[in-house]
Amino acid sequence: MARPEHVSCPFCGERGSNQTCRTCKEQGSALDGLVSYLPYGNPIVREVIGCWKYDGDRSVEPTLQYWIEQSKDRLRPPLENFIVTHVPIHSSRKRMRGFDQAEALSTWLGELFEMPVEPLLIRSRKTKPQAKVHHEKRRVGTLDGIFEIHPRVTELPSCVLLCDDVFTSGATMDAAAKCLKETGVEEVWGFVIAKGSHES
Ligand SMILES: [Zn+2]
Repeated sequence: MARPEHVSCPFCGERGSNQTCRTCKEQGSALDGLVSYLPYGNPIVREVIGCWKYDGDRSVEPTLQYWIEQSKDRLRPPLENFIVTHVPIHSSRKRMRGFDQAEALSTWLGELFEMPVEPLLIRSRKTKPQAKVHHEKRRVGTLDGIFEIHPRVTELPSCVLLCDDVFTSGATMDAAAKCLKETGVEEVWGFVIAKGSHES
């Protein structure tokens, strides 16, 4: 199996902690930290996630769940008083694919860590999958405003664990974290299966 990820700042890669470093915070990153279990640069990891995400092949889900369970004690996300939610895909994409992979992940995590799960966000604007956007075009901040709070949400929790399948530039997850923080959430941690650039 792939070597585990180094613990580092999710945005600049500074080693030592998986919290967002002070410099990246000062530059506007809203996400407080990121738990990531595997390197996206690993061809097996990329292939399995690709089957799931782009081909909609749900038969790979037991493999993904196994990877997550194997890593759960090595690197635990902050869990106290946290609500699990997900970075949603656009509703038209969900209709096409039949499911939202980040939503599925949030359900698994809720069961695994015995945490409450609640959909808090909707995607109001359709964008290309970030891993398919050319590297130079990906920048933190370019996706601000693509998320809104789910209309059914009446009260927001103070701490949120935000799930997505993959973290590449972090632009999508940071835009979602920004939306949550602008509406009163105090702490937002990310959780992904794999981190790294598509090209590596
Ligand atoms: Zn940093």
